[in-house]
This record gives sequence, C-alpha cells and structure tokens, in this order.
Amino acid sequence: MQCLIAVDGLSSSDLTSLVQCLPRSGKLLERLRFAKINSSLSSTQAIWAELLTGFQAFLSGCAGYACPSSSLNKLVVCTERDLQMPARLVETDAGERSVTINLPLLLPRPENRTWLADGSLSTGKLVSPPQLRADPLFEHYLPRPYKSHAGATTLDQNDVSKQCIELESRRLSMAVSLFNQRNFSKFTYRLSVFDYLSHLIGTNFLAAKDLTVYKSLEKLLRQFDDALQVFSAGDFALVSAHSHTPCLGTINLNLLLASGGFLYIDTEEGSSRNRSERLKVASALWQPTTHHLTSLDGRLDTSRSVAASPVSGCVYINKRTVFDDGIVEDSDYLKVREAITSYLGSVLGSRFGRAFSLETYPHQLNSSSAPDLIVKIDGVEFNNLSESMTPVAPLTTHNPSGFALLPEGSLAADQISATDLATLLNA
Ligand SMILES: [Zn+2]
Repeated sequence: MQCLIAVDGLSSSDLTSLVQCLPRSGKLLERLRFAKINSSLSSTQAIWAELLTGFQAFLSGCAGYACPSSSLNKLVVCTERDLQMPARLVETDAGERSVTINLPLLLPRPENRTWLADGSLSTGKLVSPPQLRADPLFEHYLPRPYKSHAGATTLDQNDVSKQCIELESRRLSMAVSLFNQRNFSKFTYRLSVFDYLSHLIGTNFLAAKDLTVYKSLEKLLRQFDDALQVFSAGDFALVSAHSHTPCLGTINLNLLLASGGFLYIDTEEGSSRNRSERLKVASALWQPTTHHLTSLDGRLDTSRSVAASPVSGCVYINKRTVFDDGIVEDSDYLKVREAITSYLGSVLGSRFGRAFSLETYPHQLNSSSAPDLIVKIDGVEFNNLSESMTPVAPLTTHNPSGFALLPEGSLAADQISATDLATLLNA
C-alpha cells in the first residue's frame, strides 16, 4: 500500500519547524530519507504533471493551468486527459482502487478512484464516487474556503487564513476516514493550506508564533500529527512539490517578445471581447493570488506572431503544422527558436544574471503543442496578461524546488528532479 502526503508550499528550510510542531510523528519523519527536489516549472499543475507521469513538461503534455489548443489564441484548462503519458503515480492494477485527495489535473473516475476535488477544474463534481455524498462527513466538501478570487480579495487576510486552516482541518478528517477504510492500494493526499498561507502571510510562518492565526495553525498541526501516525501504516512518503520565495517583481514575457519583434498584439477591440473569458478562468482558480493564471486568449495577432507565451514561463512557437493559424514552417523552426533563445538570453541574462535560466525542447523539431522554451528567473513571477491587468507584485512567488522524505533505504540522491522522484515512487 502506497501512501503519499504532500505539504506543497513548504521548503526544506521549513522542515525543522514542521518536525518541532509534530511531537508524535516528528521522530518518524526524521527516520525517512531526505532529498531536495527540483522541477522545470513552478506552477502547481506542471509540477504535479511531472510527479504523476514521471516526464518533464516538454513531454508530459502539461506546462501549467492551461494549454494552447488549436491556436496560441485559444487556451483550454489542462486535465489528466491532456497528459501525453499515463499518470502512473495514481494508477492501480485491475480490481484495485486509489484514493486521491485535492490533487491537480485529476478527474473523477468512480469505478476505481475515490476522489476529492482540488477545485481547479470545472467538473461540476466535488466528490466521487457519488455515494460518498450520502456520508455526512463528505456531503458538504469544499476544496477551497471561498467561491471566487474576486470575492476573497475583499475579505480580511486573517479571516481568509483562518478559513483556509479550518477547511484543511475538515479535509484532514475526511482523509483519515478514507484511509481507515483500507480499500485502496494507493493513497495520495495533498494539503493546500501551506501553499495558501505562503501567499497570504509570507514564508517561514511555521516559526512565527506571534501570528494572529498561529493558535488555529497549531491546532491543525496537532491534528496532522495524529493523522501522520495513521498514514504511516503504509509505504509512506512526504513531499512538498514546490516552495515559495519573496516575489521580487513580475515580468510580462509577451511584451518582451513584442519588443523583440516576435509577437504582435491585436487591437483593443479584441481584448475587451475576451477579457470576460479570462476573468472567468481567473475566478475559477479560487486562489489567494492569480498566480500563474496567465492567458492572452484572443489578443494575439497570430497572422504576424512567430511566438507567444500564453502559459506562464513558457514560450510557444506559432507552428503551422501544429496550430490552425500557425505561420512558422517546420523548416524554419530551429532558426526561429534560436533567434528567440538568443534574444531572451541577452535581454534577461544581462538583467538577471545567474537567476535566469532557459530550457529548450529536447529535440530539433517539436510537432506537439508542448512549449518550445521554458524561462525561469528566481523570485520573478511571469504575468502574461495585458498591461492594464498587471497586478502589484504579490508577496511571494513559487520556487520550483521542494523536498521529499522517502521510505528508509530508498536510493535517492540528495538532490533529484521531480521526474526522478516519480520514478522512485513508482518503482
Ligand atoms: Zn503557492
């Protein structure tokens, strides 16, 4: 029986504070094999796609919350259906069940999956199989404490933090109840409270005992301490898929590509037509910030643009053979990719130095709708929306590094990639 608990949002430097808050299970955690993990992208969806499939964003089919479909102007929300590789982490043998709680990308599959939504997909369902709703514990399950991002911004930050903690406490009770049924071969539960608090409060909050919400947090951690005792009955691992770092600023890659002559933005008319669509997606995400929710739907002049960044941190070449309105021929692909690589390298490299890095698609031609380039700048959040919608820099932004505590005796190096971690977990 495989049991994976995710404390997304915490960094390896939070681990000491976490262990101190868990007097009963801390000892158990200290016995596990520690490894730092790194990912290509910092969006929750992209990292979980790596963990689920064992393949990087270039090959997994998911580089963020959304992905381009028939055009760089048309984005669709990514789900496990868009994955190019099987989600091995949660797949089971015939006749077995998995339990997945609050995991991105995954959809209900009543026949062999007990599922509690993470709230980022518009499935119209929150728990599955449907008979779970008959149990009063699950009847009112909510993945997030508030209905819309727009609504949440009007609430007091302390109140929102408290609501996030209370919601996770209820979800934790559900997780323990499902675990105790022991009718599964794989159990995966992601807590999102640490992620939320990192956005609402900042980093290192586990050590900040003078916080107004600390009492509530302490209570949740006591409950988590007891729950870990239960979860550790299986082949147990704890991971944090990503961490947070103070946000130094935001960059709009599309404006940058436009300055380089690679991208042309459509008229204002087109922008107002599509703004409401973008806002709809924004409110569907229900997160404390609109982090990584970047879309340029309908705003590109695709008849002139050779590349764009409709997904945070990712650059896509407007290939004629992949997109209905694409203009770059396969024979020109490498030339265009090299021109963009060299342009971004010189503009961002000179400004950010070693904090900047660029990865390119691993083959000479990319005939898929996966990104062609992935841009990373430590502490910088990519905001690819129009200029007028650029928000004030958020308190923290995602850092594509996390940690894993793996079963004793597992052969992990001290530092591994998220895809290596997936391989280890699936071994
Ligand atoms: Zn976060």
